[in-house]
Amino acid sequence: MTTQAVALPSTPPTVSRRQAWLRGARELLLHAVLQDRVLSRFYPGVMHFMLFWGVSIQILGTIVNLLQYPLFVPFTIPWPKGGWYLGFELVMDIAGGMILVGVLMAALRRLSFRPKFLVNRWEDWAALVLLAVIAVLGFLTEAFRMSSVDPAWRAWSPIGNATAVWLGLTGPVGQPVHDWLIAGHVVVSLGLVALMPFTKMRHLFVGPLNILVRPERRNGELSTIEDIENTEKLGVANATEFTSPSLVSFDACVQCGRCESVCPATISGMPYNPRTLIHDLQVNAHATFGQKPGEELKPILGETIAKETPWMCTTCGHCLAVCPLFIDPVSAVVDLRRYMTLTTGEVPGAVGEALTNIERRGNPWGMEKAQRAPWVSELGVRVLQPGDETDVLLFVGCAYAYDARSQKAGRELAVLLQRAGVDFAVLGQAEGCCGETARRLGHEYLFQTTAQENLATFAGVKFNRMATACAHCYNTLKNEYPHFGAEFEVVHHTELLAELVQAGKLKGFTPAADGKTLTLHDSCYLGRYNGLYREPRQVLDAVAGVKRTEMPRSQAEGFCCGGGGGQMWMETDPNTRINKRRFEEATKQAGADVIVTACPYCLIMFDDAIRTGGASERVAVKDIAEVLTERQPG
Ligand code: SF4
Ligand code: SF4
Repeated sequence: MTTQAVALPSTPPTVSRRQAWLRGARELLLHAVLQDRVLSRFYPGVMHFMLFWGVSIQILGTIVNLLQYPLFVPFTIPWPKGGWYLGFELVMDIAGGMILVGVLMAALRRLSFRPKFLVNRWEDWAALVLLAVIAVLGFLTEAFRMSSVDPAWRAWSPIGNATAVWLGLTGPVGQPVHDWLIAGHVVVSLGLVALMPFTKMRHLFVGPLNILVRPERRNGELSTIEDIENTEKLGVANATEFTSPSLVSFDACVQCGRCESVCPATISGMPYNPRTLIHDLQVNAHATFGQKPGEELKPILGETIAKETPWMCTTCGHCLAVCPLFIDPVSAVVDLRRYMTLTTGEVPGAVGEALTNIERRGNPWGMEKAQRAPWVSELGVRVLQPGDETDVLLFVGCAYAYDARSQKAGRELAVLLQRAGVDFAVLGQAEGCCGETARRLGHEYLFQTTAQENLATFAGVKFNRMATACAHCYNTLKNEYPHFGAEFEVVHHTELLAELVQAGKLKGFTPAADGKTLTLHDSCYLGRYNGLYREPRQVLDAVAGVKRTEMPRSQAEGFCCGGGGGQMWMETDPNTRINKRRFEEATKQAGADVIVTACPYCLIMFDDAIRTGGASERVAVKDIAEVLTERQPG
């Protein structure tokens, strides 16, 4: 047995300076130079590749050209010469062509098949027009140089040469024009450089900077307010209260709309949009930092951003996953929520109720501890006392303990573990809420208190690893508790079940012969934040004859159920419900009769969609554990 060493004081992970440098270099190479995220979408990826590499090569080539003259440094670099020069000419020529192709692709996308999330602003067109003019002037300059000098290597500058031929330029007549073209080329290029800080082109510098300075946290981990008892500023009221990396990130946004295109709140029609949120924060920050000393700082909430806005995000993380510049709307939303929850108290009624329930009763349902998980005593599950030992400590979580629908799923999980002979136990009434809901609703103080109480309880028992069936508890225990000193292994029930199936400890499933089609809904906190896509599918596929289908949006592209980020506790407009949209995707597009979940929040959200949609007769939602016990005779 392993005794768990749990230190209560906050212990942020430390890395050496060398590790930090190496990490920074790797991140820059992968995301800024190779641009893996930009290239993840074909058309805009190729378009950006053309523009980025075309412009970068041209800038580098221009620097090389300038170093041929003693302009800025007291020496010249006599390179490139001979064969190198021919190669240099060819590369510069191709780079100019790449800029033109990129500009053409961008213009076509904006004019002809513009995705609805792509906004057209003056600065987008200014950048494209200037880039096109620079490239065209460059080719014209080259064409007139060809006609004046008529070098033997003309073929090494194919586009410049073709331009000269196309214009019918011959002989030295072009020299004066050539000089004017060079001057024009330089002026327009300097104009572009001068415009950079005032347009989205600044992302050329701010983007890599944001990649370098973004906080190093685990996936799915929110920032911690350190020494919260003595901290005066709780949350963010105005731009000066954001951290410097946050401000850099707002400035890096290019308004590409990728976040908007995947945001479940936006797609479902809520008046919320992560692109607009970041844009508004950027505008507010510029205005705030431009204020005169002594002026009252511009508030964000109620002025730049409506007070209701931050409550619409489900914290599903899809925006973070697709943003090519690693901008984090979730952290911004939580910072704003923290201000409302901890400083002004202006929170929606349902949010206040859930938080009060956690404070007073230790769970967002507001139920008595005595009502916890009746299945524990029914099934004779061992309840640990201080000093007791077990192999697997099952962290039940509030949903499986108090929500009537989820209790059924919790029961089936316990049945499976008993059948598989797993040495497991629970903490019973000593288990508290993991604090996930409180944290995402902005109540950092309540989260830290509950986390510390739980860690003290964990320290009193011995276990080898902790298992939980809730994706939210899983993420919090695995990714957020380590900041407070937790050092134990956490597994999700789908991982544990997959392991038991593979080891042959869960077997004898009766083949599925009911002809029903199953589809697995990927919980955001399980998949997107923790990469668990394979395990739940392995478990389902262990039942012979199961007809399993995928929804159009699954795995990394999965669409939220609408319950995360505290949304489960909020009143939402029936016309913009995310769970309804996802339910229709599962049934109408994937043709599923059974929606399988691996998280109680998803289970509850689908259950709600089925009941409110009057579909109980034809569709069912089941936790993955329920699917297994149904097909395993007791
Ligand atoms: S936050 Fe990222 S994904 Fe969203 S618009 Fe800005 S750059 Fe694009
Ligand atoms: S976390 Fe999800 S709901 Fe929130 S802004 Fe991002 S994509 Fe939208």
